[in-house]
Amino acid sequence: MSSADESDRQAFQRTLVTAALPYANGDIHLGHLAGAYLPADLYVRYLRLRGKEVLFICGTDEYGVAITMKAEQLQIAPQELVDRNYQSIAESFAGFGISFDNFSQTSRPIHAETSSAFFLDLHRRGKLRQKTVEQYYSPSLGRFLADRYIEGTCPQCSAENARGDQCESCGTSLSPEELINPRSVLDNSPLEMRETTHWFLPLDEWQPALEKWQAGHPNWKENVLNYCRGWFADGLSPRAATRDLHWGVKVPLPDHEGKVFYVWFDAPIGYISSTREWAAEQGEPEAWRTWWQDQGTRLIHFIGKDNIVFHAIMFPGMLMHHSEDYILPDNVPANEFLNLEGKKLSTSRGYAVWLPDYLEKFSPDTLRFTLSRTLPETRDTDFTWKGLQARNNNELGNNFGNLINRIFTFAHKYFEGRVPDWTDADLTDLDRATLDEVAGCMERYAVRMEKFEMRAAMDEAFLAGQAGNRYFDESAPFRSRKTDMARCGVSIAVALQIVRQIAVMLSPITPFAMAKVWTWLGMETDLEHGGWEEGLRPLPAGRPLGKQEILFPRIEDETIQPEIDRLAKLVEDQT
Ligand SMILES: [Zn+2]
Repeated sequence: MSSADESDRQAFQRTLVTAALPYANGDIHLGHLAGAYLPADLYVRYLRLRGKEVLFICGTDEYGVAITMKAEQLQIAPQELVDRNYQSIAESFAGFGISFDNFSQTSRPIHAETSSAFFLDLHRRGKLRQKTVEQYYSPSLGRFLADRYIEGTCPQCSAENARGDQCESCGTSLSPEELINPRSVLDNSPLEMRETTHWFLPLDEWQPALEKWQAGHPNWKENVLNYCRGWFADGLSPRAATRDLHWGVKVPLPDHEGKVFYVWFDAPIGYISSTREWAAEQGEPEAWRTWWQDQGTRLIHFIGKDNIVFHAIMFPGMLMHHSEDYILPDNVPANEFLNLEGKKLSTSRGYAVWLPDYLEKFSPDTLRFTLSRTLPETRDTDFTWKGLQARNNNELGNNFGNLINRIFTFAHKYFEGRVPDWTDADLTDLDRATLDEVAGCMERYAVRMEKFEMRAAMDEAFLAGQAGNRYFDESAPFRSRKTDMARCGVSIAVALQIVRQIAVMLSPITPFAMAKVWTWLGMETDLEHGGWEEGLRPLPAGRPLGKQEILFPRIEDETIQPEIDRLAKLVEDQT
């Protein structure tokens, strides 16, 4: 890390981390986790481990046409649908160990209030543009219809049930005015074109300021900068902030009956609403301002690549043009996509692994570790069940689990379950070299984490595990216990010290297992908040150790085969 990077970072007193708001029309799958939620959680847990001040904010994104259509299919109210999905999403995130400080919903009153005030601030100060456009209107329903509520004959293949956004028969993407004999999906009634007025964000006018601001962030990930360069080169277009729909935050202006915010306009404001909700729950309703308006706060948005335009261009533009002094994102670490068994995930075809299903059968730590080793940080990567099995059995089990188990077993058997006596004067060259090696892994792990290079950080934790195993074999306490019990004790104490440092590095990745190891080591401090410092200090001799258990049970072939078969069958059914 260069000294310039270091001094930049020192200038920040606290970090606000957001993860993309999941859309409340279904469950979370592995692609979501690898894209935004796991990297965000690793980073937040790392900062907490270092004792830094950090706030982790998220919530479900609950408005838009996809929600109303799904609710109509299920014949329930949209609110009931999103409340149900919110519950399920919040539960599976908790089961997976995603450690949000607040997880809100955009359908809550605090969000309507926050996003309305935001819109009105831009509107009053002349930052928005009004435009009249033509859209299909249903006289029988008395309202304008969104693209997906319109059906007609496909101009390409003449299929009769093409949708306003796409023809399912021939795959052509369409706009509603291309359809022949357009009609309403809801009641089959004919439609007519009518004029409607909407508010737009003038991104074309904002482009110079946005480009200038982004030029000050050359350290952003290459994939993010590349996408942005492309959009800037094409020239940004004005983007509608309102639309004709009933499900959404109502446009807070007179004569705007039946108009709501476009979901992409209000969703990022959801981060602010969720922070306000958190502050209110702390009993300090104004505390949210410290996180959004104090220059000592660093804002980081973790997202998947499909959300770059909203977080790197539109939302910063909105924040920039608000009258209050909002901070702008310091970084937008976006990941590419995760594939599944060599194929693209598809939620519409059910080709995905859903988090609630996974958690019914397998451990959260195993998936967190496996995904951490294969995060699509710079290009798309692939998840396979065989890969998960191998990571669990070979890396978690053999490299870490066995090492920890061997050392604790030894300490219980020959040292009455206590940390043996060890002083600095007793250390051999091998002892010192190994302790230095592991300390070096921790240092490099920290540098990688600071740069959002989670996979490279994992590599360092893995190397520390290998160093521990090598040390155990070479220092050979199983031999010295027969000839030199004091030497044997020092080897075990050094090995326990290495385990402690491994526990620190692994705690963001496999938090459930490492919390156990921390208590076995007799630690009274909180590993997750500030454990890094504690991990660097030598373990005190004589401290009683807890009884260990198997941390990472093996996954057998017959356990994962049904999962492999299920996905293979979905592929087969498609062809
Ligand atoms: Zn067609």
